[in-house]
Amino acid sequence: MSATDTARSTAPLLSVRELKKHFPIHGGILGRQQAVVQAVDGVSFEVAAGETLGIVGESGCGKSTTAKLLIGLTQMDEGDIVLDGRRLGPDMSLKALRRDIQMVFQDSYASLNPRMTIGDSVAFGARVQGLDDPQGRARRLMARVGLDPDRFAGRYPHELSGGQRQRVNIARALAMSPKVVVLDEAVSALDKSVEAQVLNLLADLREEFGLTYIFISHDLNVVRYISDRILVMYLGEVVEVAPVDDIWNAPAHPYTRSLFSAMPSMDPDNRTTKPPLSGDPPNPIDPPSGCRFHTRCPMASEVCKRKHPVLGRMGQGSPHWVACHLHDPASGHPKAAEGASV
Ligand code: SF4
Repeated sequence: MSATDTARSTAPLLSVRELKKHFPIHGGILGRQQAVVQAVDGVSFEVAAGETLGIVGESGCGKSTTAKLLIGLTQMDEGDIVLDGRRLGPDMSLKALRRDIQMVFQDSYASLNPRMTIGDSVAFGARVQGLDDPQGRARRLMARVGLDPDRFAGRYPHELSGGQRQRVNIARALAMSPKVVVLDEAVSALDKSVEAQVLNLLADLREEFGLTYIFISHDLNVVRYISDRILVMYLGEVVEVAPVDDIWNAPAHPYTRSLFSAMPSMDPDNRTTKPPLSGDPPNPIDPPSGCRFHTRCPMASEVCKRKHPVLGRMGQGSPHWVACHLHDPASGHPKAAEGASV
């Protein structure tokens, strides 16, 4: 079993193994490589069919690069992507991957061709992939996402509101009949009332079409609402993954706790007294040794500076995984022997 097995007993639909993407930085007169940004560094996870995996973390933690690697927009340096038993490369072409995994981006306007009508945009991918009746498919999906095709099919993106454009992008993704949809901050730019409508639409579509979502957002409340499990990333690595209620009620990694404690509360009686996360994330060009979080962690000890923590279960058979020496009695961390509730 992998370190990020799903909570469900079914075989994973999507399996990501040791995904790596380092971006070289060139400079000087000769344009030589001077450094490497470790954007994604050994990320592994699995997603079951019909599941929604939420991915959270600060800006620059690698969640959006992970999304782009998943749909082949960015080429991985190392790792494996296995979808429905087929491995990218030997068993599955990039074109086939893009049909089975679709993505909805944050910027609804930049995602659409401004010179293409809405109807043509929704039908475009299906036409390129040689699917039956792309125009009819586009009209049916437009109606399903709440856009009357008679009114909207002939319009251009600039004639629509942000919420309507995001509905177009969702319809366009579904036109390929994908197995997995990656939603990268897909509702973040919308007004709160529109955001709620689009979230409900996504939840309905997941049931109706049997979709699997990877939902990336900086808004923890939104991630909690839509996700079955939450995966937390820090500086290009996975530091915690667990079913949504487990991680919400008892976050185990000090970074996850800091993220949650920094959430604003609308309830004056429920204001946190915990200190928010201090300092900026370290430079991903030269990440700290050992645990990458040790420069900001209130629980760091000597061992954290030397030893890299690996993702391990919180208990035998537990679906809650964490990469922190506090939860590993063999790590040598002085607090580890006191148990996981430190
Ligand atoms: Fe903090 Fe050490 Fe755990 Fe890293 S391994 S999160 S530094 S206690």
